[in-house]
Amino acid sequence: MTCKGICTRYKAQKPVGTGRYASGQKRCQICEIFIKWEGLWCPCCGYRLRTKPRNLKYKAKLRARVEADSQLESVAVKAAEVEEIEVEAIVVKKATKKAKTAKATKKIAIQPVAIKA
Ligand SMILES: [Zn+2]
Ligand SMILES: [Zn+2]
Repeated sequence: MTCKGICTRYKAQKPVGTGRYASGQKRCQICEIFIKWEGLWCPCCGYRLRTKPRNLKYKAKLRARVEADSQLESVAVKAAEVEEIEVEAIVVKKATKKAKTAKATKKIAIQPVAIKA
């Protein structure tokens, strides 16, 4: 049971506005890394992954975070919608270029929002 370096492929980024465990990330004690992995065992070293924080204090914090997450989800959906709109805008831009009707397409700013995994 040693780290083979495979885990870095599954390395999870620190989520914004939520906890790592709350967003579904798992911790490998051997590789000392948080990964995005569906299984219970580390794809790298084969050691059992931790899905929950160890101490109770953190657990309470996590529970609060999970509750906040359900509210966050609606925001995340909104962000996803905005992203779709921007993709459409790009398509329109390309189309107008072809038709040589130079019309400025609206740019939509996307706010960084934590999307629950
Ligand atoms: Zn590893
Ligand atoms: Zn591991």
